[in-house]
Amino acid sequence: MNREILLNMGKAIDLIKESSNIFIASHINPDGDNIGSSLALALALKKINKNIVVLKSDIIPIDFTFLPGINLIKEYDDKLDDIDLFITLDCGDINRLGQNKILFENAKKTINIDHHISNTNFGDINIVDSKVTATGELIYYFIKQMEIEIDKDIATNIYTAISTDTGSFKYESVSSDTHRIIADLLDIGIDKSDININLYENMSFTRMKLFIKSLTTLETFNNGKIAVIEVTQEMLKETGASLEDSEGIVSFIKKLSTVEAACILKELEKEDIKISLRTKKYLDASYICNKFDGGGHKRAAGCTIYKGIKEAKELIVKSIQEAMKV
Ligand code: 5GP
Ligand code: MN
Repeated sequence: MNREILLNMGKAIDLIKESSNIFIASHINPDGDNIGSSLALALALKKINKNIVVLKSDIIPIDFTFLPGINLIKEYDDKLDDIDLFITLDCGDINRLGQNKILFENAKKTINIDHHISNTNFGDINIVDSKVTATGELIYYFIKQMEIEIDKDIATNIYTAISTDTGSFKYESVSSDTHRIIADLLDIGIDKSDININLYENMSFTRMKLFIKSLTTLETFNNGKIAVIEVTQEMLKETGASLEDSEGIVSFIKKLSTVEAACILKELEKEDIKISLRTKKYLDASYICNKFDGGGHKRAAGCTIYKGIKEAKELIVKSIQEAMKV
C-alpha cells in the first residue's frame, strides 16, 4: 500500500473514533466481497462499541447467509437518518449504492473503501487501491491498523470476501500478500473447508436446473474466443430459480479452452439486460463494459443494456470483437 492510502487510513480511523452512529453499505447485486467486507468491518467496529447499521442494498444471495453477523444487515428505512459516518465498501461509484444513496448524502461524513480502478473517489475520505484483489484485503489491513483483534467470525468474512473476488485465489491479481493474509486467517482458526462447502458446494437442485437450461443457449463467436450465454425470465419461470441463482454460470463457460471472453446476459425485464463479462488473459472487461456505462475490473466487469436480449447480445458481442482487434 502506498503512503497516501496509509495516510487516508489514519484519517479514517480518527473519524471513526469521533463517530457514534456508523452506517455501512455496499453495491447493489451484492457479491461475496461486498457482503464479507461489510460484515467483517461491522463486527470489528462493534468490538469498539460503535452503533453499527449494515444497510441491505439488495436481495442477499443464499450462498452468503451462513456468514457470521449476517443478521446485522438491515432493510432500508428512511427514518434512519442520524448518521455520523457512512462507510461504503467495494462500491465504485455513488449510484451503485442504489436506494442507500439518499442516506449516504445525508450523512455528516463519509468514507469510501474500494479496489475498483474506476472508483470516482466520492467520499470525504477515499481509501482506494486498485492493486489489491478484493476490498476484503483493504479491510484486513484497516482492522489491523485500528488494532482491533481479528477473531474467527471476522476472519471468516474476510476469507469469503477474498476467495469469492479471486475465483478461489486463481485470478492474476492474487499476490503473495493475498496469501499472507489468508495464512493469518488460517492461523486465527477459520474452518476453510466449511466455508468452501458453504460457498461452492451448496447448490440447490433448482439452481442446478437453471445452469443446465442456460448452458443449452451457449453460442461462440470468433473461433470460440467469445462465449455467450443467456438467462431469460422464461427459464426462471420454468425452473423456479431466481436471478441470483445464475451466479457462477459465466465462470463455468470461461473454462472452455478457446475462450478469452465469457459473457452472460440476464433478462431482468424485456428491455433491461444485465451483463456480466469475464476475460481470461488479455482483454480488459472493464473497458468494454464502460462503453455501456458499466464498470468493474480488468478480468470481471458488468453493465446493463436497455434493449431486448437479442439486440443486447449483438451489441456486446460487437463491442468485444472491436476490443479484440486493438
Ligand atoms: P458481476 O458481473 O459479478 O455483477 O460484477 C463483476 C464486477 O463488475 C464487480 O466488481 C462489480 O462491482 C462490477 N460491476 C458489475 N456491474 C456493474 C455496473 O453496472 N456498473 C459498474 N460500475 N460496475 C459493475
Ligand atoms: Mn470487490
